[in-house]
Amino acid sequence: MSSGLYCFNSLGANRLRDRKIPIHPQPFENELLSSWFCRMSVKNLSTPSTFFGLHLRDFKAVFSADLDWPNGEFVSAMSEKVGFSKSKILFMTLKSYEGYLFESQNRFSSSKPFINPVNFRGGSNRNYGLRYCPYCLREKEYFRKEWRLTFSTVCPKHKVFLLDRCPECGKPITLQKWRSDKVNFHCWNCGFEFRNAESDKVPKESKGVEAVSKLYEILDKGYFEFEGRVYYSISYFKVLAHFVKMVYNLSVRSWNLLKKEENIIGVNLSNQAKGVVYYKVPLKEQYVLFSVVVDILSSRENIERFIAVNNLKKAYLTRDFVDYPFWYKEFVDKYTGESYSPILLEVENALKYMDRKGIKRTWDNLREILGVWVEAKKRKDIKRVLNSVKN
Ligand SMILES: [Zn+2]
Ligand SMILES: [Zn+2]
Repeated sequence: MSSGLYCFNSLGANRLRDRKIPIHPQPFENELLSSWFCRMSVKNLSTPSTFFGLHLRDFKAVFSADLDWPNGEFVSAMSEKVGFSKSKILFMTLKSYEGYLFESQNRFSSSKPFINPVNFRGGSNRNYGLRYCPYCLREKEYFRKEWRLTFSTVCPKHKVFLLDRCPECGKPITLQKWRSDKVNFHCWNCGFEFRNAESDKVPKESKGVEAVSKLYEILDKGYFEFEGRVYYSISYFKVLAHFVKMVYNLSVRSWNLLKKEENIIGVNLSNQAKGVVYYKVPLKEQYVLFSVVVDILSSRENIERFIAVNNLKKAYLTRDFVDYPFWYKEFVDKYTGESYSPILLEVENALKYMDRKGIKRTWDNLREILGVWVEAKKRKDIKRVLNSVKN
């Protein structure tokens, strides 16, 4: 194969378009579709983009978006091409997490919890949305589906941090952008082969590896146990997403393990967290964040303690939920009687404080300062004072 992979011209494309793909390897355990497609292309002596053009050129839009979030027609076409069942193809995509990790939906939305967007533009990924463990690659060279998940910050098997970019040149990883002289996964920009990378060990005293293993386990099984009862995994991840937001974006951070993990790992959760979505956060911060939130959600005792030490009101526990999962409702209902509506004087004092500190007068900022949820529609009086900016 040293002579390189073929680059067919359009004559070849017309001949192959309606044919089945002769050599199609079986997917490895939890293999990502883009990874499998690249391996298949190379086995057929072609680069992924050429190979895609030859066999699937009606689906160019899929190739130039997120190959691991394809549409249903593509899945059907792929299944025809290689003779695998549709469900086998679908299982390699990130859509296979629907109903387990998040609610099903038609379009990929960047606000989808726990999936890192890759932002594929102009032929390569712009975001650091795909990660890998080089030691896993050395054992078996393929990219695992879970390496697109936000909470995948370490490899539980090798106990190292995952890498989210080329260690040589720093570019985001784009599997399908392939050099014709390569047979192993590599960086399109500098040619570095990812299997040759080294990665930092996670300190032994940190609890984060355990947290990631636990999340994988829940996702794998499709359910979790809490207080001796079994619930669907999705109801865990919904609450997890909410707690991540509380800790990260709303700075609800009184929790022992947080300081401890920050010291062990040597990073601090940033304070300008408002508005930043947690998947854009540097990997080691995500690691600390998920270690902490998994710890909080690990028992009734911990959840209650978290609520108590942070003096959380119902509004904080329920905002953003359309309906909250049954197992979680129990905690929230305890606080039902506690919600109160601030009087105008309290609001005015809060606004004065905000002005002094240079905090922008917005509903969200006000709610945060007051520590309660105030409904904009129901409080015309607040709306009036909120908009009258004093100099
Ligand atoms: Zn590994
Ligand atoms: Zn590189």
